[in-house]
Amino acid sequence: MALIKCPECGAEVSERAFTCLKCGYPINPQLFQIIRVAPPSPPPLPPETPKPPVGLKTKVCAEIISWAIILSLGIIIWRVAFPSENSLTPAKSAAISSTKVTSTAPAAVKVDARELFNDYSVNATAADSKYKGQILKVSGRVLEISKDPLLNNAVVRLEASSLETPSVRCSFSSAAIPELSELKRGDWVFLEGKGTTMILGSPTLADCSLTAP
Ligand SMILES: [Zn+2]
Repeated sequence: MALIKCPECGAEVSERAFTCLKCGYPINPQLFQIIRVAPPSPPPLPPETPKPPVGLKTKVCAEIISWAIILSLGIIIWRVAFPSENSLTPAKSAAISSTKVTSTAPAAVKVDARELFNDYSVNATAADSKYKGQILKVSGRVLEISKDPLLNNAVVRLEASSLETPSVRCSFSSAAIPELSELKRGDWVFLEGKGTTMILGSPTLADCSLTAP
């Protein structure tokens, strides 16, 4: 058994002593504590018993929080899935109205000059309900380009059948005349204009302008 010096008073004590015999300094605090603390064991218990309620509280809190998260997520999903008219932001409603406008107004009806003429010769009334007042995008071969100095407009006649006489008449306003200078008989063109009706045996378009295919 070795002897050590007491760190408090310097007296020689056994290394296995609990306390210094001279000054009472704890040499082996672990042993000292076990012996000293063991008798009054009830005190450590009380602080342990209040712990379960705390754990329970945090458990309840966690449950409340998770339910709140689930509920708010549910509300968000509901809003996304069923957006009411009132909840629309100005940007959203503007986008919707603009798409409505674009889908109704400039939807040009694509039609070939021969098809247009054929529709009018088969049933002019049915053709009118299909083309009259619509923006038509007509493709066809140029038969004739004429200028009317009195009305100050130009008329492009498009081939409508294998015969020369029937044609689709497309009138261009004075502003659109310059773009016709490059055009010649036999050219294949695409033009856009407002469908009117059959005039003197020719389906007629007003306010025409040349367009890309
Ligand atoms: Zn001592």
